[in-house]
Amino acid sequence: MMRFTLPRDMYYGNGAVDVLKTIKGKKAIVVVGGGSMKRFGFLDKVVNNLKEAGIEVQLFEGVEPDPSVETVMKGAKAMQEFEPDLIVALGGGSPIDAAKAMWAFYEYPEVTFEDLITPFNFPELRQKAKFVAISSTSGTATEVTAFSVITDYHKGIKYPLADFNITPDIAIVDPELAKTMPPKLVAHTGMDALTHAIEAYVSTLHSPFTDPLAIKAIQMVNSDLVPSYNEDMNAREQMHYAQCLAGQAFSNALLGIVHSMAHKTGAAFSTGHIPHGCANAIYLPYVIKYNAKNCADRYAEIARSIGIHGTDKECVIGLCNRIDELNKSMDIPKTLKDFGIIEEEFKEKIAEISANAVADACTGSNPREITPEVMEKLFTCIYYGTEVDF
Ligand code: FE
Repeated sequence: MMRFTLPRDMYYGNGAVDVLKTIKGKKAIVVVGGGSMKRFGFLDKVVNNLKEAGIEVQLFEGVEPDPSVETVMKGAKAMQEFEPDLIVALGGGSPIDAAKAMWAFYEYPEVTFEDLITPFNFPELRQKAKFVAISSTSGTATEVTAFSVITDYHKGIKYPLADFNITPDIAIVDPELAKTMPPKLVAHTGMDALTHAIEAYVSTLHSPFTDPLAIKAIQMVNSDLVPSYNEDMNAREQMHYAQCLAGQAFSNALLGIVHSMAHKTGAAFSTGHIPHGCANAIYLPYVIKYNAKNCADRYAEIARSIGIHGTDKECVIGLCNRIDELNKSMDIPKTLKDFGIIEEEFKEKIAEISANAVADACTGSNPREITPEVMEKLFTCIYYGTEVDF
């Protein structure tokens, strides 16, 4: 038996946040990030809409990018004191991901972080609150997914939490919010969305339920991402929907090793953070070449859906070239060396990073198996920009 789970309701289109005026509830906690939602007036809009619905509102502000275990625990405590029956998470992936984990600890204070990192092992949520997610970036699609990424800064590792219990009840996909994104964020989040759709399409768990969502998302990213990066607001709106479709696909088909690798390198180097979408964008063409030994036909289907012709092999190369082209036009580097990772440090850490990446929860659904030794070879190709021929 298979399962396909999405939010009960998805409200989309300009002004979709106004649906909050009609929402049912008594007390809402609004979880939000660093301040852009406040600056642009969206936080006020959300709070006023909830008040108009007769709901008492409390704020939990200041969720940092790549939220920490500590922030999650702090938010859960605030929820235990306020006792909301609605959790409204507003912003990019970070506040929404953090709020999902807070939700679990709010409903089950005795649960430990270790209990939750086992995939699909959450206790039954919705005993105390329902969850509304309003996304302001066009990438993670956390407003529709069963995932949350929380960072343990002491261990330098990102934990992807996974369970259909944390798929939101209501997703609000209002493109007005995405219009505030700076171009670099558009580039990184857009390539994250493309990676979600491509990894979902070739995943061992892909299905007739997820394939159409993935293909449509890929086609939309292919045509709308660069215009969106260049401030075309109609394209920006389409990207907000495209990333949501990609999210619906990967929440049910899961991902692959591009994400395993991005999770384990994001916070690993002293030269600074590698933004999630940027890491995916760099790794994706190399991983396609590695995986294509097993599923060239699936990548060829993707390529043909965006107008690339030829044999399966030619289509795989055409798809990688198209990804290179997208990266290039948005100033995303082609190698980890160009990104600025120091060679010495790379060599020193890559064996451990490779072992961690293989052990990541996303590796299980990758279409081709990989060992830590081969992962290290793959990372080395990505560092120097050499050909993947194994
Ligand atoms: Fe991602």
